[in-house]
Amino acid sequence: MTYKNFTIETDADGIALVTWDMPDKSMNVFTEEVMNEIDAIVDQVVSDAAVKGVVFTSGKSTFSGGADLTMIRSMFSLLQEEQAKNPDTAMQKLFDVAGRMNWLWRKIETCGKPWVSAINGVCMGGAFELSLACHGRVASNAKSVKLALPEVKVGIFPGAGGTQRVARLANTQDALQMMTTGQTLTPSRAKAMNLVHQVVEPDQLIPAAKQMIKDGLKPVAPWDEKGFKVPGGGIWTPAAAQLWPAAPAILRRETAGNYPGALAILKCVYEGLQVPFDTGLKIEQRYFTQVLRSTEAFSMIRSLFISMQELGKGARRPAGVEKKKLEKIGVVGAGFMGASIAYVSAAAGIAVSLIDRDDEAAAKGKAVSEKLVADSVAKGRMSKEDGEKLLSLITPTADYSTLSDVSLVVEAVFEDRQVKKDVIEKVEAVLPETAIFASNTSTLPITGLAKNSKRPKQFIGVHFFSPVEKMMLTEVIVGEETGDEALAVALDYVSQIKKTPIVVNDTRGFYVNRCVFRYINEAYDMLIEGVPATMIENAAKMAGMPVGPLSLNDEVAVDLSQKIMKASIADLGEASVKPEHMALVNKLVDELDRRGRKNGKGFYEYPAKPAKKFLWPGLKDLYPQKPASQVDVNVLKQRLLVTIALEAARTVEESIVTDPREADVGSILGFGFAPYTGGTLSYIDGMGVKTFVALCEKLAADYGDHFKPTPLLLDMAAKGETFYSRFNPYGAEQKAA
Ligand code: NAD
Repeated sequence: MTYKNFTIETDADGIALVTWDMPDKSMNVFTEEVMNEIDAIVDQVVSDAAVKGVVFTSGKSTFSGGADLTMIRSMFSLLQEEQAKNPDTAMQKLFDVAGRMNWLWRKIETCGKPWVSAINGVCMGGAFELSLACHGRVASNAKSVKLALPEVKVGIFPGAGGTQRVARLANTQDALQMMTTGQTLTPSRAKAMNLVHQVVEPDQLIPAAKQMIKDGLKPVAPWDEKGFKVPGGGIWTPAAAQLWPAAPAILRRETAGNYPGALAILKCVYEGLQVPFDTGLKIEQRYFTQVLRSTEAFSMIRSLFISMQELGKGARRPAGVEKKKLEKIGVVGAGFMGASIAYVSAAAGIAVSLIDRDDEAAAKGKAVSEKLVADSVAKGRMSKEDGEKLLSLITPTADYSTLSDVSLVVEAVFEDRQVKKDVIEKVEAVLPETAIFASNTSTLPITGLAKNSKRPKQFIGVHFFSPVEKMMLTEVIVGEETGDEALAVALDYVSQIKKTPIVVNDTRGFYVNRCVFRYINEAYDMLIEGVPATMIENAAKMAGMPVGPLSLNDEVAVDLSQKIMKASIADLGEASVKPEHMALVNKLVDELDRRGRKNGKGFYEYPAKPAKKFLWPGLKDLYPQKPASQVDVNVLKQRLLVTIALEAARTVEESIVTDPREADVGSILGFGFAPYTGGTLSYIDGMGVKTFVALCEKLAADYGDHFKPTPLLLDMAAKGETFYSRFNPYGAEQKAA
């Protein structure tokens, strides 16, 4: 038989080498068709007496990334369609679909012939679960080999036997830790956890896998043998009696109970280890179906898996402009941001002319890359040669004529209109006609800056977030005159440096900072009302934010907030900033010199390491304090999330953000907006616009007009719309996921 996605070669020893190599994809993923073919392959090898065993591997440099997003989308569409017709059959159908992979892998495991998975590259999700169902697992020791069950990160959990097999192979604590965090394992760590049998040199992978079969590998999983014992003894042991009462508490500390997928892992393992294996799989299938139906899973999969991939692949790139591979760029301003922008660009193989006011300042910028490379080499994350190659791509200089052959310049000089104007003129004097000028400004509208340019069509904003090496998001800002070519090149650049772009129209603060300042402002309001600062910070964490608003303000710098507030007053008038907020910030900065982490004191105190930062006790004396018992923590949580989501809705209403995927992905990658919600707009859609409007009205009555629902929201509520239906990113002809 022939297959579209697999080849089978049986050698003289009767070992069938099944190679997975999807013809039309760069990475192997599970689709309906792939699963059907695997099903047929199992039948074929079982019925072929000449086949003694199977080695399963990939023909690509990676093993597999797991499920295909179109399969997941169609699963949700199916559920929605069926649910409208008959909720009971919808449940049954979802249950069956959700269990397909689970039982197919079980079919491999119980087919009677030995299967060995030969893992030659990244092996994620369902692919790792397939490997766990094989009787033997051999991994190559190449650096590129990584194994993980990362499903929890998109709101679900390993639902193809992962929870049952990992918990029967590894010790329970390691198993729970790995699956509830979605941790990535190196081959040696996977071996230490008993999840792979052998780790070998890449060229030994297939021979070693075949050898396992030749050595008489039994086609029976350990848990199908009589007398099988769970590592560590299972649930009813003294060690388990210590572990299990603590496990839900630890999970709650880490997730504040916001992630049903993570909790389901605990339930599957706890319940599954007490029953026979097949019953364990059924338990997993039930919880998996239940979690799949949750708003959290739906929203997280949509934003963190589907939308993120779509945006990364250039969903917003204008059609009709040829894709560009950037060979050389200029970065002007080798300070805090510019130095790191040069680093990430060189890391992507792009040559960089790194310019500052003099050679010394430019060299200081390159020194940042030198340190980053030295650290990576020392930690074994980068080879010495790769490090040298990266550094050789960065040329520090004060000479603007080095920009005569670049296709893009990223400007990251001081946040000062006059300085930027001078730099734009100097750069444009030498820049090739076709090249694009991108400003990294965080506060100055792009349309205004472009007025200094002779070719505003080629002028755009590319807004990075700090630390640039770690933050995956870049905001691309389209000014009034920015042309398609500039947008396309900016997106090509962002994709080349492997960041996720969101495209927004021009406005003060763009998208991300507008939302972030709402978050911080709400915390100012709370402080002024006398809410204890610890409650504000803890409520934010409980709401799912990675960093409390006061801590975040310290990171951003309190004097930067002051500067931005003063600029708003200057440009937009006194009413643009609450006087109480201005007074609070002025007091902290001007009177108390509390500027944030950078000077070791802000809302927090920063004692010398290893001591941890703590909230500045003096905050209590700034405003009369309310007793904690008079503060409803749930209302604090709502206020913090609602104020951000409302701002996101306003940006849509003002056509700053035009695609809900960008609002959602931008909010999670930009400032960690409660990921379980799927992002700012999914948070609103998830509870329903009508409910959100009612919540806003209640908060507005209690805490001020800034919570008043906007005309767009009122209209959507009246019409029963969601953001994804009204602003459907896939066009009217196609349903959004
Ligand atoms: P910085 O002060 O650390 O660096 C600015 C650099 O520009 C300095 O090295 C300075 O010598 C150089 N410079 C000044 N005038 C110059 C000129 N005429 N020619 C060449 N070089 C010149 O500032 P930064 O924090 O890196 O910010 C740079 C830009 O990035 C600003 O527009 C800022 O708003 C924006 N930004 C900053 C952050 C952040 O977190 N700091 C985040 C996003 C965007």
